[in-house]
Amino acid sequence: MSVSVGIDLGTTYSAVAVMDSETMQPRLVPNREGDKITPSVIQFTEKGLIFGREAEDAFNAGEPDCAASFKRSMGRPEAYCVIDGKPYTAVELSALLLAHLKEAAEQELGDKIRDAVITVPAYFYSTEREATVAAAGKAGLKVKKIIDEPNAAAMAYGLNHWRENANILVYDLGGGTFDVTLSHMNGNGEIQTVVTRGDHFLGGRDWDDRMEKLLRDKFEAETGLAFSEDEEAGRTIRGLAEGVKKQLSSMQSVMVKTSFAGYGYAAVRVTREEFEESTSDLTERTGALCRAILEEAGLRWRDITDILLVGGSTRMPQVAAYLMRLYGKRPIAHVNPDEAVALGAAIQSTKENSGYSQLSVTVRSGKKETDRESLLSNMHLAVKPSRRLEGVGVMRLKETTAHAMGMIAVSEDGSRYINDVIIPANHVRPVKAAKAFSFYTKRRGENEMEIFVLQGDKENPLDNQIPFRYVVTGLSYNSGTLGRSIIRVQYSYDDNGIINVEARQDESRTNLPIRREPVPEDMSKYGLPIEQAGAVPEPLNVVMAIDVSGSMHGAPLVEAKKAMCGFVNNLDLSYTRVAVMAVSDNVQTVCALTDDAELCREKINSILCGQTGFGNMGHPFRAIEELLEREEGRLFAVVLADGVWNDQQTAVEAARRCNERGIETAAIGFGGADQQFLRNISSEDANAMFVAQSELARAFGSIAQSLGCGGAEGVMGVNDIDTWEG
Ligand code: ADP
Ligand code: MG
Repeated sequence: MSVSVGIDLGTTYSAVAVMDSETMQPRLVPNREGDKITPSVIQFTEKGLIFGREAEDAFNAGEPDCAASFKRSMGRPEAYCVIDGKPYTAVELSALLLAHLKEAAEQELGDKIRDAVITVPAYFYSTEREATVAAAGKAGLKVKKIIDEPNAAAMAYGLNHWRENANILVYDLGGGTFDVTLSHMNGNGEIQTVVTRGDHFLGGRDWDDRMEKLLRDKFEAETGLAFSEDEEAGRTIRGLAEGVKKQLSSMQSVMVKTSFAGYGYAAVRVTREEFEESTSDLTERTGALCRAILEEAGLRWRDITDILLVGGSTRMPQVAAYLMRLYGKRPIAHVNPDEAVALGAAIQSTKENSGYSQLSVTVRSGKKETDRESLLSNMHLAVKPSRRLEGVGVMRLKETTAHAMGMIAVSEDGSRYINDVIIPANHVRPVKAAKAFSFYTKRRGENEMEIFVLQGDKENPLDNQIPFRYVVTGLSYNSGTLGRSIIRVQYSYDDNGIINVEARQDESRTNLPIRREPVPEDMSKYGLPIEQAGAVPEPLNVVMAIDVSGSMHGAPLVEAKKAMCGFVNNLDLSYTRVAVMAVSDNVQTVCALTDDAELCREKINSILCGQTGFGNMGHPFRAIEELLEREEGRLFAVVLADGVWNDQQTAVEAARRCNERGIETAAIGFGGADQQFLRNISSEDANAMFVAQSELARAFGSIAQSLGCGGAEGVMGVNDIDTWEG
């Protein structure tokens, strides 16, 4: 036999729970010391690792080689601490703690743990969730699912106190963080998060700090000692603070006695009233966040069915009293605040995972109807009385995305970078959404596309979390469209709130390889206007070679010159340079590479029929190769020909050489030009265009259009949000 468990991996305390198969109720699994919750502290000693209360005491006494609160650094690649010369990341420390919890629970249960549901704060980003899964893996645990702490708590509560159509405010004040979540219980056993917010610099520790200050002042007044100059005495006070705070949760006042070096024994009295007065601003900060949540959901206090207290710090009587003043009703305390999260995880651990297929995607640009909106409209219905659910099986979690997911994109007017939100916040997960982009691939070298995924919905990309740099590789040059490809990128949040990115090219039904890299340290350019950000497109060098043999005399040359001037006008010369060659029996560079449109047009207009001979003995490809040989960026040559060239073989070979050197070639032919020859001198069949004289301008125009976007790789147009199957 083996069991599934639920684990609350907390910042300050952790707990393991299982479902009792007889009562069908979850219960906590006591640790080796018989405690239901275990401090999330590790002490490294010569004799090995120490966990639990002993480690916590050591940490509070300021002993060396202790690690605590490492959950705060979950997902960060750097070491959280260095112990005995060895660096430890938060993942490694969490893995040690999880392994300990697993072993202790297995011993207590007399059974192997098969898999676990682990809870994380709702606001946890993808990287933090992934890190949690990684830590569990290192600890030898198979993660069945990651669920959000408030949802777990709501489940533990809902199991025995289900209310149909109820709005539950989950108020979680832990050791270092405060989270408040509005959950909705609907008619059919479904619990869904509506909004969630948190303050990650507000928790029990802040109350400890205030208690420490209170104690210092009192002891200083009593003893006349200055603790600011007495480190040892300062530590003593700090060590007392949390304990006194906890005592005041059940007593009106506490006598605190201790001795100080060089002074001796001293005692002071602290009252609950004094403590509450000195911390009222902290309590009020939690209230502000509750109000913000209500506002976001469009609810008033009276729409809230119940407030559920979670987290050890809600044991302070001032919390319930404060909420009662705000809300007018006493928050419920059916479930032990330190236990609710682990108990809910245990309930979830007996359930099967859902999959993407079970949830339909309802995000569509244009059509704004999301799960959330339909939910919000249901939140004012009458609440049906509480009851016991018909067993655990009926209860289901519909978890939502705490953070929107977007990507860095160029604003419509091209002036700056923005966060293009693809999946909104508070949308039911798992969820997938895809977008399509016009992307120009190069013929030469590796074609890669860079994607910066963002978590958050702030417009400035840098105000959001940027988990990774995704590099899509293996894009192929699309010959039929002069490099233009449609790249479809699909973003998803899985069941666990972990993001994933997939990409496909054109009509292909297979995914392109994607590499994940750390985000570059300097991302500042994405916060600047694009010009200043130096986001210059790849330089583009274009050579136009025009046939000036006798057959071009008159209208053909006039039309060709017009088309070429139009072509120059169409190019973006901020990153493009153009050169012009005349070719017939010989070759002449009429205009060297320039970004001066006027000069170029002048040179084009100066071209004369027969200026390099009236026959077609020559070809321009060697000259083109020489001209572009040392140039950077994209290299492109357009050859305009009418009639047939004498030495086609040599011309074709020279054109091939150009292609091998990374010069793309296109040929526009009219009049008596040979179509097969045009294809042979073009780097792609599609680059060979055989047109009527009157269509010359259009032919050049189509090349300019594709080249005009060719330098600036990336987003051109974005279509509606969609998904792809499979
Ligand atoms: P976390 O979720 O951050 O790991 P918990 O929910 O277990 O933490 O809460 C831990 C916090 O609760 C600590 O700051 C602790 O001091 C505080 N706490 C625990 N019991 C009490 C109590 N009886 N009175 C006041 N605070 C308490
Ligand atoms: Mg907690």
